[in-house]
Amino acid sequence: MSTLQSADTVFAFDNSYARLPDRFSAKLSPSPVPAPRLIRLNDGLARHLGLDPDELSSPEGVEIFAGNRLPDGAEPLAMAYAGHQFGTWVPQLGDGRAILLGEVIDRDGVRRDIQLKGAGRTPFSRRGDGRAVLGPVLREYVVSEAMAALGVPTTRALAAVTTGERIQRERAFPGAILTRVARSHVRVGTFQFFAARGDVEALRLLCDHVIARHYPEAARSDRPPRALLEAVVARQAELVARWQLIGFIHGVMNTDNMSIAGETIDYGPCAFMDTYHPDTVYSSIDQWGRYAYANQPRIAHWNLAVLAQALLSLLGESEDDAVREAEAAIGTFPGLFEAAYLAGLRAKIGLLEQREGDMALAQDLLECMAENGADFTLTFRRLCDAAAADPGSDEQVRTLFDDPEAFDAWAVRWRQRLTQEPVGDAERRDAMRAVNPAVIPRNHLVEEIIAAAVDGEDFSPFDDLMTALASPYEDWAGDARYCQPPRPEQVVRQTFCGT
Ligand code: AMP
Ligand code: MG
Repeated sequence: MSTLQSADTVFAFDNSYARLPDRFSAKLSPSPVPAPRLIRLNDGLARHLGLDPDELSSPEGVEIFAGNRLPDGAEPLAMAYAGHQFGTWVPQLGDGRAILLGEVIDRDGVRRDIQLKGAGRTPFSRRGDGRAVLGPVLREYVVSEAMAALGVPTTRALAAVTTGERIQRERAFPGAILTRVARSHVRVGTFQFFAARGDVEALRLLCDHVIARHYPEAARSDRPPRALLEAVVARQAELVARWQLIGFIHGVMNTDNMSIAGETIDYGPCAFMDTYHPDTVYSSIDQWGRYAYANQPRIAHWNLAVLAQALLSLLGESEDDAVREAEAAIGTFPGLFEAAYLAGLRAKIGLLEQREGDMALAQDLLECMAENGADFTLTFRRLCDAAAADPGSDEQVRTLFDDPEAFDAWAVRWRQRLTQEPVGDAERRDAMRAVNPAVIPRNHLVEEIIAAAVDGEDFSPFDDLMTALASPYEDWAGDARYCQPPRPEQVVRQTFCGT
């Protein structure tokens, strides 16, 4: 099938998804590109995957990332899936421009997919060209790696290459390919694909596959599909709480973009909030704000209900039984989310103990931030130092609020609450700094590095930003721009998926 030359570079592939029946995927090779060039290789991740960074950055390695050469043992395929896009059912989506090369086991014993995104047309491409352009590839590289550094479960970026092609979008852009690494690429939409076709056998196989891969403890349950559903619900509750706590807006929480493994996946028009407001939406295609910041938990819950629906045939003997099982599992989401979110909010404002009224205290700060146009990331980061200082030194925080006195009023209540805490100021500050990042991939910074790369073929701003994002919880000693909100003229109000 493959007309590509195979390569000597060593990937210890063991491809469990490729062993599933034919209807799970379309087996095909990437389409070659004319002139690949390496933009960046993630050395640390390569080593973690048991790969040799020197080999990978050699011309032969670059040919692999471009889809021009297949490493030995690769069994390239495009996965089939369906999904709800903005609430509308689409019975067939699938990898229209992504090709899974195979799976390797990393240094921690975790199985990881290695996928080329932008590798050419597949049977699932519909009207698309199967390609990716440079801007979105860089955005995904930057934001997914930033999320990893922030400690949020996410797919990773192993490499990015340009292809030497010009790809037509609103105008012609340089073509690029991202090598994405994931615990798996199985989505809610993968289950939907088979459920919609009434293919119970495939559902069972898919269930066994993800249980073996991600939730082995569910295999020991007396009802593995129910245990699987509960485990996915728990991971998503945890994940979305993490998003809320760092001001991350995914932007396209369609069911085909929700990972069964609980990783953040598919970085399209995603964005980190600058000024805090719960209704914030950046995505140009999200006209009704379905995926606004504050809606993310509700949407995750909705997506999980869709997963439960897809699993119904496996959940009980009778339909009533299955529905009861599904509802019980899905019903755990709000409580799990609230608990994770509240625990995170407590930590963000320096509370180690649990007291009644903590949620209200934190919510009042958020409300005050929303009313006063305060920067989300900077408010919490500066609060870390304020926690260790006397009230006279709140200046750094209060200036972030349109009406600084609104913050003062909240700070009085906050300090009162802090007196009930058993730890000293310095210890509290350190604990707060470990959860309130100083450096995030702000939209204007991401736009800047994209413009430099696309318009000026200059990748050094991208590399510099990657360096700053590598240790987000430390004060960045270099260029202070990386820790600053945008100036008014730099504010980015809309993001585009650019597919
Ligand atoms: P996304 O918005 O990236 O989650 O993609 C939604 C669907 O559109 C998936 O089935 C993708 O594979 C497909 N798709 C997106 N961009 C392209 C493209 N350039 N060519 C072919 N298919 C695409
Ligand atoms: Mg997608």
